[in-house]
Amino acid sequence: MGVLENSLPPNMLFTTVDKFLNWSKKSSLWYMLFATACCGIELMQAGASRYDLDRFGSVFRATPRQSDLIIVAGTITHKMADRVKKLYDQMPSPKYVIAMGSCANTGGPFFKDSYSVLKGVDQIIPVDVYVPGCPPRPEALIDGIIKLQQKIMEKKNLVKS
Ligand code: SF4
Repeated sequence: MGVLENSLPPNMLFTTVDKFLNWSKKSSLWYMLFATACCGIELMQAGASRYDLDRFGSVFRATPRQSDLIIVAGTITHKMADRVKKLYDQMPSPKYVIAMGSCANTGGPFFKDSYSVLKGVDQIIPVDVYVPGCPPRPEALIDGIIKLQQKIMEKKNLVKS
């Protein structure tokens, strides 16, 4: 929200506008198609008809320019890390990150002995929600998206906290 962020006194009008802004953001979490390894299969499944992520207003886009959310699903190598950061930087604000699965959270099964794997995507971009599992089921990802929506609803855009 730029200069207006967190600047106005709480009153009925501003509080309602604030809620409306948050509601519109949480209801249109368009996520960028991005998967690097096996967790990506579960992500695809979450988007398919059985789980139907569209129900939550979360549809995929194939470009960072129209995406609010990046779901990092899979192992990120050091070689890949620059690209992930670049894609994140190209997304417009406000933008959100879900780390899906142990690899994105901490390096997963490659944490100990691999020289090439990033030990958590939060080393290069800020993560809003961590979804545990190797791989997490689509239900776990949906739970992560609901948690992100709850977090967005708590944000103060205009009203001073
Ligand atoms: S967390 Fe497990 S399932 Fe997901 S990408 Fe890593 S190894 Fe594959």
